[in-house]
Amino acid sequence: MDANVRSSSGKQTKIQFDRRVLSKEERRRHALRGLAISWGIALATLPLPPIHWLTVPFFFFFGFYWSWKKYHETEHLIPFTFPCPECQKEVTVKAQVFHPLLSFVCPHCRYGLKLE
Ligand SMILES: [Zn+2]
Repeated sequence: MDANVRSSSGKQTKIQFDRRVLSKEERRRHALRGLAISWGIALATLPLPPIHWLTVPFFFFFGFYWSWKKYHETEHLIPFTFPCPECQKEVTVKAQVFHPLLSFVCPHCRYGLKLE
């Protein structure tokens, strides 16, 4: 997929990257992991008397939201590198959930970079 990386000063570089569409099975696994982590925190805070009135119901319901959110994350970025439009040094983007308004910070010159 072709795209532009634009720095906060307006310079831009053309790059190529790829996305991976997650299978229904992977999305289900991510959703269940999110639910398990959230409910695990709820259970772990159960023996802590004053704060368990807040943490147990919060993490119980947050688990539903978190697993719903994880299930609807359909595309992941495949890691890629590109030359920073400001300093021309290589910037590596690691695997993460893809969304159309991704932004990064160049680790070398600290300019904000946006994927367009
Ligand atoms: Zn840079």
